[in-house]
Parts: sequence; C-alpha cells; structure tokens
Amino acid sequence: MNWQQQSQAELEKILNVTVSTGLDTAQAKKRMKQHGPNRLEEKKKVPAWLLFLRQFQDMMIILLIGATLVSAALGEYIDALTIVFIVVLNGVLGFVQENKAEKSLDALKELASPTMRVKRNGNWVTIPSVEAVPGDIVKLHGGDKVSADIRLLTVNSLSAEESALTGESYPVQKSTEVLADKDVSLGERINMAFAGTLVTKGDATGVIIGTGMKTEMGKIAHLLSDSEKTETPLQKRLAHLGTILITGALILTALVVILGLMQGQPFYKMILSGVSLAVAAIPEGLPAIVTVVLALGVQRMIKRQAIVRHLPAVETLGCASVICSDKTGTLTQNKMTVTALWNTAGITFRSSKKGFPRSSYDKLLSYSVLCNQAAMDAKENNDGKIQGDSTELALLEAAQSTGVSYERLLSSYTVKKVFPFDSERKRMTVIVTDQAGQAYVITKGAPDVLLHLTTSIMEKERTEKLSALKKQHIHQAIESMAGKALRTIAVAYRPLQKDEQIQDVKKVERNLTFVGIEGMIDPPRPEVKQAIQECRSAGIKTIMITGDHKVTAAAIAKDIGLLPEYGKVLTGQEWKTATTQEKRELLQRVYVFARVSPEDKLNIVNELQSAGHVVAMTGDGVNDAPALKAADIGIAMGRTGTDVAKEAAALILRDDNFSTIRSAIKEGRNIYDNIRKFIRYMLASNVGEILVMLFAVMLGMPLPLVPIQILWINLITDGLPAMALGLDQPEDDGMKRPPRLASESIFANGMGWKIMSRGFLIGLVTLIGFVTSLHEQPDDLIRAQTIAFSILVMAQLIHVFDCRTSQTIFDRPPFENKYLTASVLSSVLLLVLVIYTPVFQPIFHTTALSMIEWLLVLALAAIPTFALAGRRLFKSDGR
Ligand code: ATP
Repeated sequence: MNWQQQSQAELEKILNVTVSTGLDTAQAKKRMKQHGPNRLEEKKKVPAWLLFLRQFQDMMIILLIGATLVSAALGEYIDALTIVFIVVLNGVLGFVQENKAEKSLDALKELASPTMRVKRNGNWVTIPSVEAVPGDIVKLHGGDKVSADIRLLTVNSLSAEESALTGESYPVQKSTEVLADKDVSLGERINMAFAGTLVTKGDATGVIIGTGMKTEMGKIAHLLSDSEKTETPLQKRLAHLGTILITGALILTALVVILGLMQGQPFYKMILSGVSLAVAAIPEGLPAIVTVVLALGVQRMIKRQAIVRHLPAVETLGCASVICSDKTGTLTQNKMTVTALWNTAGITFRSSKKGFPRSSYDKLLSYSVLCNQAAMDAKENNDGKIQGDSTELALLEAAQSTGVSYERLLSSYTVKKVFPFDSERKRMTVIVTDQAGQAYVITKGAPDVLLHLTTSIMEKERTEKLSALKKQHIHQAIESMAGKALRTIAVAYRPLQKDEQIQDVKKVERNLTFVGIEGMIDPPRPEVKQAIQECRSAGIKTIMITGDHKVTAAAIAKDIGLLPEYGKVLTGQEWKTATTQEKRELLQRVYVFARVSPEDKLNIVNELQSAGHVVAMTGDGVNDAPALKAADIGIAMGRTGTDVAKEAAALILRDDNFSTIRSAIKEGRNIYDNIRKFIRYMLASNVGEILVMLFAVMLGMPLPLVPIQILWINLITDGLPAMALGLDQPEDDGMKRPPRLASESIFANGMGWKIMSRGFLIGLVTLIGFVTSLHEQPDDLIRAQTIAFSILVMAQLIHVFDCRTSQTIFDRPPFENKYLTASVLSSVLLLVLVIYTPVFQPIFHTTALSMIEWLLVLALAAIPTFALAGRRLFKSDGR
C-alpha cells in the first residue's frame, strides 16, 4: 500500500476509522487479535536446557569428566560418581545464577516501556505503545519516540530524526501534503512518521498504518541484534584478568603434577588431582557472580526509583565526582503556585488560596490563559481534566481562582496558530482571533527575553512607549520577585494587521506590548538538602543547571544548601563568552548556572570532563539528549522526561528526584565494593588451595587433599558464601569517602596484598596441620588429609568475614549479613556431615576427628585472619 498517496478520506475508508472519534474499544480489541501486539519480535532466547549444558563446555570441566572416566575404567567407581555429582551440582549453581541474572535484566527492559496518546471512543487517552493497533488516531509531540508507522493528518512544525531507518541524522521536516509519487524513499515520505524514529520538535496527529513487525522498522528488525549484551568496564577487565589467572593456575597445577610424578605418585591419580586443582583454582564462577551482583544491585536501585538502562552505569556511578542537576522538579517539587503579580499599577502578593484583585490584573491573567497549552488541551479533551506543565497549570490556577475562566475565554477566542514553548527560546506564542475577527499575538515567557521583543507597555488600558525608566521598573520587579525564589513569567501582546503573515515566528514576535509579570513559587523538595550534604561529604559536587533567572536560581540554591558563601552563580551568556582558561577557573567556583540553554549544557559537560571530572548530568527535553549522551552518566526524568531524553540516558529517575541520584550513587559504590569483596575471597581461597598442594609436592610429601575434596571445597567456597558477600551491606554507607578513580585497579588499596598474604597463610596453616598429623600418626594418611581438608574449609569460612571489611575483622560486627551467616553455617554443617557420617567417609576419604584434633583445626584455621588482624595493634593501615 502506498500510504503517502492517500487522502484523509481514503485513509479513513481503508483503515475503517473516523478521525474525529478514533477506534472504539471493540474495534481495538478485534484489531489487536488480528495484528498482534505492537512490538518487534525478539530473537529466540537460548533455551534453559542449553544454558544448563553450557555450564559444562568449559575446557577444564571436559578434562575433568575425561579424567573421571579414566578413574572409573580403573575401578574407582565411587570417586568417579562423586566427581560427576559435584560437577553437576556446580553446573546447577552456575545455571541458577546465570538464569537469575538474565531474568532481572529482562525485567529492566519492561520497565522502560513507552506509552502513546491515542483517540479511543472519542477521547484522547494514554495507552502502553504495545496496545496500539492499525487505524488508531494518535498524537505526536516533540520528544516522543514514534512507536508505530503513522500517516500524518495534521502537522505543526513537526520534525523527526530518522537516522535509525535512513541513516540521515539531520531531522526531516514533516507535512501533510499528499504525495503523487508511488516510489519514494523512506526519507522522502514526509507525510509519514516511522516507528523507531524520534520527534525532535512540533506536534502532529496521524493514523497508524502499521504496527509491530509490519512497520518499516519491523521489516529490517531481523538485521538488528536486540540481544546485544553490554559488558561493564569491570567485566571487561575481569575477562582480561581471567586469562592471566587461568594461565597462572595452569602453570602452577602443571608444576604440582610434574613434581608429583617425579616423586613416583601414580600417573592417573596425579592427573586427576591436577585437573581437579585446575578446576578449583580457575575462578570460572567470577563473571557469573559479577553479573548476578550487578543485576541484583540494579533491582535494589529500582526499589529506590532509579532505573538503569546501561549496566556499565552502575559502576560509573561510583566514580561520579560532579552531579549537574536540573532545578525544576528535581531539586524542587515542580508544584508551582503564582504568588505575585506585577503590572504598572504595582505588585500584589497573594496571601491565601484566594485569587488576586481581578480588576487590576484582568488582562495579564486572561492572556496567560489564552497562551497556555494546558488550557488548550483541557478544552480539546473536553473531559474536565486539566493536565500539563506545572508552569502552565500555575498560571491557569491563578486565573481561575481570580474568576477568569479558561472555558469562557477559549470559547470566545479561536486559536489560529501555536509556537510551543521551548527552553531554547524560553517563550511561547499563540495567535488568536476574537469574535469580531481581530487577530492578536500573545507571547508569554522569561521576562528578560520578552523585554527584547517589546517596544511599548500597557498602562491602565493604554499603550505607552517603553521608556528606559519603565524598563528599569520592570527589572526591579523581576529582581524583587526572583529574590524571593519566584520563577517569573511575563506576558506581552499586539493586535495583528489584517493581512499579516503568521507563519514566521520572528516576524510575529516583535513590537509587542508588555502587559505584566507573574511570579510563582516552587518549593524545594524537603529531602534534597540532606542529599546534597551527603554528596558533599562523599566528595561529589552538585551543580544546579537551570533555565530560570539568575536571582531565582541563587535564592533556591541557597535555600537548599547548594550554594556556599564563596560559590558563584553564572548565566549561560557569561559562560559562553568566557575563554577556555577562564572556564577552567570558573568551574572551581561555580555552583549555579542560570538561563542556560541546552547547548551550554553540552559545553559544561565537556569542560568538566576535560578538567578530569566524572559527570552525572540530568535532562528531560529533546535538546538535552546530546549532553546526556556526552555525560559519563546521563540521567533522564521518568515523569517529565521525553522519550528522546530517556533514550539518550543511562539512568532514569522514576520520581524525578535529586535524592534518588544520591541513592543510586550509594548503591553503585556498594555494588562495586561487594564485587571486590567476593573477588578477594575467591582468589585468596584459590591461592590457598594451590599453595598447599604445591608446598607438599615440593617437600616430597604425600598429597594433602584428594581430588574430591578439592572439588568439594571449590563448590562450597565459590558457591554460597561468595554469593552472600555480593549481597553484603555497605561498610561505611559508602558516602564518607571520595569517589573512586575510574582508572583505579580492582586490586587497589592493598587488596592484591591481602589476597596473596591471606592465601599464602591459608596454604601454610593447612600444610602445618597436615604435617603435624602425619608426624603424630605416620600411618594414617586419611586422618592427615581430613585435617588438611577441614583446616582449608574452616580457614576460608573464617576468612570470608574478613573480606567484608577493608579494615580488619575486628572492625565490623561479623554476623550482620544474615545470608553470609547462613551460608557459612550450612557449609560447616556439610563439612561435619562429610567427616562424621559413615556413608560419606569412604566417598570423601575422611575419618572422624577427635576433640583435640578439632581444636588444632580451628586454631590453625583462625591464624590467616586473626594473625594479620593482630598486626593492626602495631600498624595503623589495617593491611
Ligand atoms: P529547570 O532547570 O529549573 O528545570 P528549565 O531549564 O527547565 O528549568 P525552562 O523550563 O526552560 O527552565 O524555563 C526557562 C524560563 O522559561 C523560565 O524561567 C520561564 O521564565 C520561562 N518558561 C518556563 N515555562 C514556560 C512556559 N510554559 N511558557 C512560557 N515561558 C515559560
């Protein structure tokens, strides 16, 4: 079908819909059945069984299974069976972890699902985009992501960025003109909007002609990989570290095998020991646990209203050193109330919910209602619900409560044209005609901006020339309102000449007559003051970036404790004219940027980054997208943000609240700390396991551990306790220290030393226990091995508590983390079970230990953790 060639009447016929009423519920239901939900089909998921089998594709595991088969062939059936059992158990654990990670990451995608305005049963309603069907009449607005293919019916300065489809990054101007040509490329079908593209500005209505896989995007969807997995920098570094660790473990294991063979140990036994050791020592579970911990952290962030769109942001959050935050709605409540009015008759402050003296401000209030998107929408919707931007709502409320009714005004004036508000222009203009047919331009916007467009002023129903003195009066009024933290909006107008053109906004907005100013309060969010304070003590500077007036911004910044005595407030204009050198210096002192345009935001991000900062930047509008993309962490507003901003952001604040950024940073720091904790634990354990074997063969002794024991330890230590560490509570709430450097190694702050020293000691005490037992009872190798096995397990289970703190085990109450306590207790129980029950003894090559032997085990097992903690008495760095 060549949709671009059809007229509206033809479209209505083909799609069986009336544009004025849209589809009704029954029609929509039927079409949903027929066409299916409006979404692109995802690639088939990896089935669960394959995911499970994948756990065994690891080279070492295959080798281990091979070696097990050899031992089975040699008649060691129990050994072989047990090893297979442990390997399967390991696989199950890995599978559960991976599955969980995948599920929680999937859940994230759902959260960010978009919505759409459609006309159903004659009313405009918002529905989830998946529920849209062909024939639906829809509205598009600057900032929307188009979710279906749409033939446009009305257009008001609409442009769309279609690079996802056409590769052309320059926005395309849209129109409703019916195209004559049948074969036009997608980019030239200017009377259509396509799914997956972005509306950069303007408004439009249209009819859906294709949904889901039947959109142009759907046709090429098979070319896109939707299951693209983003690895975080840490995961990448771990992958690299993994190869080093694997090589190291393999070399050492080979050494153990060669030395063992040289001492005459049986060949198959040595090979099996070697392979088991390699399986145990290679931290193959690491990437999976990192993913699980990241995914669980992301879940916790959702509970705190922060939705992570890109996993790497979780880590970057912990490095953030500057937050550039919007003011309205993020630092303030976005609940505006007009509390002051000014015109040449004077200023009036409002003391109660009652309105203002109508006779003095009738024109000001009336014009602020005629030039008001919220009022126009309410009239059009005809459902009595007034929704919209809070500034517009405040103006509307001030008028209504003074007795100026929007219904009456909008029925006596006809709106001919709207130039919507945008934060670049900082104003909105409408052209209306009264019942006598006289047309007017009405503009409302930032007073300082409007002053440039006005040449006269209203004085008691008369139009006077705008003298320098009157300008000064206006400036005084602005300053006086702004000093009370009020956002100011001015209104101006002029009657239009008979045949004046109304298409060009520049020609329309000139020679205006200044009517007056409205000042509105937007109270700060109560929790923000503390959040800013916390960020400050965490070494993070908060900078306010606002489109508002300098004085308004400064007053609010002071109020919420953002602007210190020595802090500077700068306007976008002042910033623009500063040299690079000046900008560097200014950045150290500026806390508030006012009257900023979105392009300044991008420049501020760039300058902060080149000064070495890791920048988190908030934004909501279409024009904020470049700054959000450029920032290290782009943060979009969940409620007031446009789809375009959300698309560009790494993090979405569901509640638009600044303190949510603080919580996300705190969580980000905690997640990183926890990842470090279990890496430390797992690696120290592995070092201990390898060293005890290596020491023994070097000393020409029998092997202290049998393969099954090694695998068992690996299962117990790599398994639950490591997971539980990933869920640990933050050590110092994470916000009392400066941000981590992005380049910092995962082993920073002495962690490498801790891993090696603890690992070495774990190996050493295990060997000491083994040697002591052999010395006492030279014929009882099984006893000595049981002791070595128990020491190794217990030393690791004690050491796990040490890993919770960057100080020493004495510096944190050990049993705070109930998952950890439970996993350690169950590991101890399992150890006891394996040692004391006659069924397991032959399988695990163990024997019952006496009380005295247990004392020896515990005393030795405690050494690696407590001996080094004791050093703290003499040294203060806690290493
Ligand atoms: P913040 O960063 O505090 O959220 P902002 O950058 O979003 O603020 P804008 O909404 O762009 O600020 O507003 C900038 C100025 O434009 C305001 O100070 C006000 O004077 C004017 N303004 C805001 N909203 C409207 C509107 N709906 N119509 C006309 N003018 C407006």
